[in-house]
Amino acid sequence: MENIGIYILLLFAVAAGWAFGRTSVSSRKKHSVETNELFADYFVGLNYLLNDEPDEAIDTFIRALEINSETVETHLALGALLRRRGKVDKAIKIHQNLLARQELDKSFFDSTRLQLAIDYISAGLLDRAERLLNEILGDSTAIKWDALRYLITIYQTEKEWVKAISCSSELLKNPAYKKDYDIRAAAAHYCCELAEQLLCEEKGTGAKDIIKKAFAFDKKNVRATLLLARTEQSLGNYKAAIKGLVRIRTNNPEFISQVLGPLAECYEQIHNLVAYEKLLMNTLPEEPDVSVVLALSDLVKRRSGDEAAISFLNDYLVKKPSLTGLIELLKLQIPKTDAAMSTNLNLLQQMINRLVNKKATYQCHHCGYEARSLYWLCPSCQKWDKIKPILEAGGS
Ligand SMILES: [Zn+2]
Repeated sequence: MENIGIYILLLFAVAAGWAFGRTSVSSRKKHSVETNELFADYFVGLNYLLNDEPDEAIDTFIRALEINSETVETHLALGALLRRRGKVDKAIKIHQNLLARQELDKSFFDSTRLQLAIDYISAGLLDRAERLLNEILGDSTAIKWDALRYLITIYQTEKEWVKAISCSSELLKNPAYKKDYDIRAAAAHYCCELAEQLLCEEKGTGAKDIIKKAFAFDKKNVRATLLLARTEQSLGNYKAAIKGLVRIRTNNPEFISQVLGPLAECYEQIHNLVAYEKLLMNTLPEEPDVSVVLALSDLVKRRSGDEAAISFLNDYLVKKPSLTGLIELLKLQIPKTDAAMSTNLNLLQQMINRLVNKKATYQCHHCGYEARSLYWLCPSCQKWDKIKPILEAGGS
């Protein structure tokens, strides 16, 4: 049976509650009536279970458990288990019933509020979860750090970047989280999301301020470095943009393909394509990605014509065969061949294109998710900064 774990825990918990009611000396008289009711419910629930009516069985067991206030931890474990098994409505019921108890110990009261907030998140009731988590924060209890973590996930889902940044800053005040890379990286990306919005609104100066904040969270963040370069470029500071882009090429060579487009634009703006070509030529020996070769072949073509570019590509492809490089070579060669040969080469080009287009160009280093475009947040494992370009080395 699918939810066998829930039933075993329920049977055990109710039986334990019943045994507790029977054996506790101090509470024997006080609970004798309750214990009898519990005993009856236990068998009613068991009967539902045996008749294959699991929902009724769970309801009866929960009702039986409500009578025994000494089993708070069992309630909490049961609620979490039900939630994990997808029975969120029942988990909510358990936690709400617990909170309704006046005599609930303060630490259990806080834990229950947190669990209820997690139930709400699982049920997609984000407004309610946010309200409850903010209440926990307001009380400044020991559980506030957990509340902050869940609030951050809510603000991330709702794309409320300012609030997500503020909660992350608060969470990082805790020495236990201060050096947590995942929290720092996520906070840097929240700043980048905000900066991108500002850039779309052409508010370059504001974007720059928020990108600085991103670096305070994660000083080597690639996205923030790319955004800063884009911002400098939009403000006409091409040399500053080039400096940032070159830093990515040095520190994060796997992102070289993201850098080449804006680099070319900046060098073009300052009318210094010679310096750009020199930079790429210096990069080539240590750079395994074919994108550098394509950028160089484009520069050679602009400087010295098609024949020079064909010769450059030929030289490279002999040493390091590459499908993307071959497509570029065919593109240059087809117009120079006769009609019959051109038809064949066109066919060949289409086939290679199809092959290349099927291949993923990015991959998550955490869960293996593959994509054709760059996501900073992995759609599969929901981790930031784990998706990286797959370098097209020679032979692919
Ligand atoms: Zn992933």
